[in-house]
Amino acid sequence: MDIQEWEQLHTDAFYDVKRALPYLEGMFVAYNSNIDAIKHLTKEDLSRFIGFFNEAEIQARVETYPREVKEPLDFMARLLISMREGKAAEIPTYTSDTHVWLKEHLGFDYARMGGQAGIISNLLTQIGLKKVVAYIPWLSEEQADYFVDSDNLLHPKVEDGKVVLKPPRQAFKPGLESKVNWIFEYSKELEITCGGNKFKVPRDNRLIISSRPKWIRLDMDREIYEHLDSLFPIDGAMLSGYQMIKERYEDGTTYKDYVSHSVNAIEKLKALNPELRIHVELTSIQNRVIRKAILTEIVAKNVHSLGLDTVEVANALNVLGHEELSYSVIRKEETGITSLYQGAVQLLKDLSLERVHVHCLGFYICVLSKDHPLTLKEHRDALLFSSTLASTKALKGKIENLEDVAAGLEVPVSSKGIEDLENFKVYCVGKKLCTPEDFEHGYLYGPDHDAVLVPTKVVDKPTVTVGIGDTISAGAFAAMLAKMKQTQVEE
Ligand code: ADP
Repeated sequence: MDIQEWEQLHTDAFYDVKRALPYLEGMFVAYNSNIDAIKHLTKEDLSRFIGFFNEAEIQARVETYPREVKEPLDFMARLLISMREGKAAEIPTYTSDTHVWLKEHLGFDYARMGGQAGIISNLLTQIGLKKVVAYIPWLSEEQADYFVDSDNLLHPKVEDGKVVLKPPRQAFKPGLESKVNWIFEYSKELEITCGGNKFKVPRDNRLIISSRPKWIRLDMDREIYEHLDSLFPIDGAMLSGYQMIKERYEDGTTYKDYVSHSVNAIEKLKALNPELRIHVELTSIQNRVIRKAILTEIVAKNVHSLGLDTVEVANALNVLGHEELSYSVIRKEETGITSLYQGAVQLLKDLSLERVHVHCLGFYICVLSKDHPLTLKEHRDALLFSSTLASTKALKGKIENLEDVAAGLEVPVSSKGIEDLENFKVYCVGKKLCTPEDFEHGYLYGPDHDAVLVPTKVVDKPTVTVGIGDTISAGAFAAMLAKMKQTQVEE
């Protein structure tokens, strides 16, 4: 198929999914959200900032290379190191004092919703799902303000021993601190003088102070778990944030506790609606013990669908014992797409999934179990719908409603994406996964799985790049569920 035909398919899929979305009753989205506070540093900000400290003390702290922000001086030192090298860095802080201090002394230019569940809840609300039930165990008053204020977005709240659904602004837990990640951006050529040293920033980059309050637990409040039926009717759940689980906590609990609670919550959701589909959105998980536990204990056998990018496919394969395949996914050589496809198939099998959706720049691969209820055309429509959402997000920085998405339809399909897929055709036809004609449509038929491959729309100069992966996975999963519901109703 040529680019023009793929453009047309995107448009047709968009309107088709738009008609199907009202068939969905609701979606449950948990667990992680935070606030991203963004500050672009000017020369004036920096000299004011340096002025808060003794310059000799800053230099001395730079020498110690602090690995966490315990006090403002640690932050100042790491900022200078990051700027001197023009190198991106992310350092944790375990207290909210840093946030309070930065807010008082520096302030931010703007703040936005961060965290996968936060981003996904807002997106699904704005594309008009009938009901989105978000659940953030650490929903603070400040955090609640970053949720879209709309009737179709609700959050459970315990009131007089009962669980009721309320808008997030009425469902927060009073007195909770907020999880705020600070993103300090700086530009090339900025001149810095500190403690007699002078340097120029070599390239644009950023320093992130990521907030990891010690009391945060990836868990569900007991009362909400006991009354999960209050969230229904829902057709699906999108779960994320498991990367926040730590191996050990100061109170003696370990990751095993939170993994088993997570599994219990999934089992209960499925018991309440056996038709319910569960999607897990993965992100980088540095700790291999945690990464393996999430994959083999939470995802395997319990969930239906997994969303991830190339790096995460490689990381997942690595802990599941497929080192060689993992390296060839990450090396991204000419055979990269073949390895990526094989990797996705491996994940589908190892984790007993129904669906694995891998998003790359320019194309998506979705591997499916043979018994999946939808046709490959319907799956393809779900992917194309999400490609249009992603291009809207990259173009405009936000999606406020489905009307906004008309702008995304104008973004061209990536010719590089089409070319990358074309290079994969010889392998697929050679392995008898498809005929050349099937491949043109993006359909593969493996011995124990099927797959859909689509080229996607790519924005040349994106306004934002954060949260696009979450947008893709959420859009495609919601679209797929909507098509399933529509088919059931119309049968
Ligand atoms: P994040 O978690 O920040 O969203 P990911 O790596 O998970 O990052 O997802 C990024 C995805 O967003 C890419 O795989 C690609 O599909 C999509 N994407 C990135 N840039 C663009 C762009 N300019 N236009 C369209 N899609 C994009």
